[in-house]
Amino acid sequence: MALMDRSLVQKVIERLSQAKAPALFTHLRPDGDAFGSLLGLAHVLKDRGQTPTLHVEGSMIPMYRFLPGSDLVQEIPDQFPTAADAFVVLDTSTRERVGKKTVGWKQPVDVVIDHHVSNPGFGSLNLIVPEIPATAGVLFQLFTTAGWKISPASATCLYAGLSTDTGSFRYRGTNAQTLRIAASLVELGADPSEIAKHCYLSITKERYHLKKLTSETLSLKDNEKSGFLTILPDFYSKSGAKSEDTEGIIEEVTSIQGLEVASLFEFGSDGTLRVSLRSKGRVDVNAIASPFGGGGHRAAAGIRFPKDAEKNRDLVLAAISRAIADLKD
Ligand code: AMP
Ligand code: MN
Ligand code: MN
Repeated sequence: MALMDRSLVQKVIERLSQAKAPALFTHLRPDGDAFGSLLGLAHVLKDRGQTPTLHVEGSMIPMYRFLPGSDLVQEIPDQFPTAADAFVVLDTSTRERVGKKTVGWKQPVDVVIDHHVSNPGFGSLNLIVPEIPATAGVLFQLFTTAGWKISPASATCLYAGLSTDTGSFRYRGTNAQTLRIAASLVELGADPSEIAKHCYLSITKERYHLKKLTSETLSLKDNEKSGFLTILPDFYSKSGAKSEDTEGIIEEVTSIQGLEVASLFEFGSDGTLRVSLRSKGRVDVNAIASPFGGGGHRAAAGIRFPKDAEKNRDLVLAAISRAIADLKD
């Protein structure tokens, strides 16, 4: 169990064991690792006789309904659930990203389990392991250390999280240990092709339409070393797609030859701006996002602006240009 602080891991195991009814949370706009980690942990705790509750802003996303136990996922309540005896947050880089409703809660976060390098550690116990490319992988190591049984249902959820956060084991950060974890999860009952079918080979026609509209906005700059996409509010009414359907669109831009940084700017009808940043690895997009209050990883990061969308878009594009100008080649 290299990479993880043993005494911290023991404390997390003890804190999770003590809770009869832990309340589990993840980040807003949840992805495969968010749902996979949430459900993967829930199955293990339930098998141990505990009764976790699972809360996500906006509830379950249809694409991930195939995950065993997905019907356990509830919308975030107005207050921290009174019956809960632990506040656990997974795969979430900042306290704000747990969800709008939770920001004013007095209840302190007990346990944070994550892999974002930008995570400041906003819980009493913070198990943050950037060397493991998905929170699902951190959980696997935790369960293995604790000697907790991983059922086929849990293995399926954890494998989905590991697979989606590594781009199907393609991104930098995928190493021998990642593949060993994946292999163990397959031995424990995860079915790679069945999971891939749901995560990668099944999109709605609305999602396809949104992707087409967005792809047409591609603009290359910085000597064709960066490219950005724009999503305007009416793209949703035009395509019938939902906000979660933007996932994956930017990855195709990143794959353009010669390009170092890809970005996506989503303009909300309420004046907000959501930014996704991706890098081939030479530019650190977490360092670009951080001064704007965003974060993530070296190769994938995001920012949210509550207002001044166009001005902030221009500031981010200028920061990308500077980072590319700084590259020595
Ligand atoms: P996304 O572009 O939304 O897929 O996010 C890419 C990565 O950056 C993910 O690992 C997110 O958890 C992280 N991230 C996205 N938005 C933010 C934000 N506003 N603050 C901190 N981290 C973020
Ligand atoms: Mn995530
Ligand atoms: Mn993750």
